[in-house]
Amino acid sequence: MNKEILITGGAGYIGANIVDLLIKKKYKVVVIDNLSTGNKSLIHPDAIFYNVDISDKAKLEEIFRMHIIDTVIHLAALSSVGESAKKPKKYFKNNVKGGLNLLEAMVENECKKIIFSSSAAVYGNPQYVPINEDHPINPISIYGETKATFEEKLKLFDKQHDLKFLSLRYFNAGGSSDDNRFGEIHIPETHLIPSILKLAAKNREISIFGDDYDTKDGTCIRDYIHVVDIAEAHILGIEYLGNNAQSEMINLGTEKGYSVKEIINLCSKTLEKSVKSKIEPRRKGDPPILIASCGKAKKLLNWEHKKTIHHIIESAWKFEQKLSI
Ligand code: UDP
Repeated sequence: MNKEILITGGAGYIGANIVDLLIKKKYKVVVIDNLSTGNKSLIHPDAIFYNVDISDKAKLEEIFRMHIIDTVIHLAALSSVGESAKKPKKYFKNNVKGGLNLLEAMVENECKKIIFSSSAAVYGNPQYVPINEDHPINPISIYGETKATFEEKLKLFDKQHDLKFLSLRYFNAGGSSDDNRFGEIHIPETHLIPSILKLAAKNREISIFGDDYDTKDGTCIRDYIHVVDIAEAHILGIEYLGNNAQSEMINLGTEKGYSVKEIINLCSKTLEKSVKSKIEPRRKGDPPILIASCGKAKKLLNWEHKKTIHHIIESAWKFEQKLSI
């Protein structure tokens, strides 16, 4: 029988891409999403869908009783660095308390394998780059803090209940599925690449949050990773956890960094038009540079990114064009 995978946040941008790949690989997929930031149009037609909030423990329990879940992939969370500074309580409630409900429902139903969608934001201002998984955890945003706190909860559940986990620390996800069906939709959009594409299409200016960082051109540097590469790491992660492996934290990135200004230039090439920009103050909680070291993903999962920044921008643009039809 094909394994049944439960994915929380499966109607979100990254979740939908993971669901798409799981279904292509013949897994049975159960999606839980409260559609607060997820989007109906991203629900895969071949997945079983429950409109449930992870704070609803009774509903979670019911779902675990109705299915034989092999592994949980947990993405349901709020994910905006900027918003998290303004609404810290909301972020802790969703990202930590909600997640704890899920872990409790799992162990009560003898489901002991989970892949958690963590973030490079757990590292804070890097002491060195590329950042490997041994780098100190020192988040500077509330968002990063919620991810780091939940990783600690996972360690506790491993100790107390033998729950095995992979915490995949994504760097900056971008792009859309190969058929451009599943892409980035956030309302409002705050992420760099889709923001540039949306604004430039309307001849509007993109705001650059700070050009006085200690980087080559003064703007923040990020490691952009294609969402399909991220999805592939989850498939390998399911196999890894199926082999009685140990819990691990693993970076997912490309080991390459691009500044905000470089991304604007690359988008302008794809769009074949110049992109207007204006300098605004720094955004709270933004480290100057985040670049992953990915040796651990290669060693443990045999995973490496396959797609470049060009694939990311091209596929993000194709998805944007589909959205605006
Ligand atoms: N950024 C920007 N203008 C925008 C959106 C983002 O200058 O309209 C910058 C942001 O300050 C950060 C980088 O682009 O340095 C990536 O931000 P994003 O929100 O895409 O991802 P994050 O790094 O916060 O996960």
